[in-house]
Amino acid sequence: MQPPKSEICVICGVRPADTVDHVPPKCFFKGAVNAQLRTVPACSVCNNGASSDDEDIRFYISVQIGKQNPASEALWDDGAYKTIKRKAKLRSSFLATAREVQVLEGGKTGTGLAFHVPVTTYQRVFERTTRGLYFFHTGRILSPSVPVEATMLAGTPDLDTDDIRRLNVEVVGGGACIYRFGIVPDEPDCSVWIYEFHQAHWALVHTGAVAC
Ligand SMILES: [Zn+2]
Repeated sequence: MQPPKSEICVICGVRPADTVDHVPPKCFFKGAVNAQLRTVPACSVCNNGASSDDEDIRFYISVQIGKQNPASEALWDDGAYKTIKRKAKLRSSFLATAREVQVLEGGKTGTGLAFHVPVTTYQRVFERTTRGLYFFHTGRILSPSVPVEATMLAGTPDLDTDDIRRLNVEVVGGGACIYRFGIVPDEPDCSVWIYEFHQAHWALVHTGAVAC
């Protein structure tokens, strides 16, 4: 699928677009087979400034999903693990909140890891991704004044509801990421996005006023 063209950065909606940016971030797809990724026109400030955020969030996603298939294994071994070895600040903020917790799995009690994900970084990464994909699918730049709110979901949402079944479904990176989205016809600034990575990490994003 070819992205629509724009002279203006589709992320900030202000500066001239002189690069292309991957949405979702390219580093989220380490090890993904047939990784046909999506790109959109972006300025170098939005594009280059984002890679550190992307790596941090990739680390948290990778810790959460674990090594459940070759692609998620590569995501950790070739990506997240290298990041955490290199970034002392990320390491200390992860360790500051990480703790072992009891989890119930199939009737048995086991141990899992609980930790806080930095919300502002998470918000930045998913806002950028959503502004990019919004343009990718509509050819329209979401105005910088339109709010974009990202939330990490604790578990798998109920996908079997009428509202969610009506959403468009897109698969990228050989299935490493599936996202669903819907845009309100009469209020095109209002849209909803559900992202899943390796069927194990879920994010919900809204654009537009809270009321819509
Ligand atoms: Zn920009």
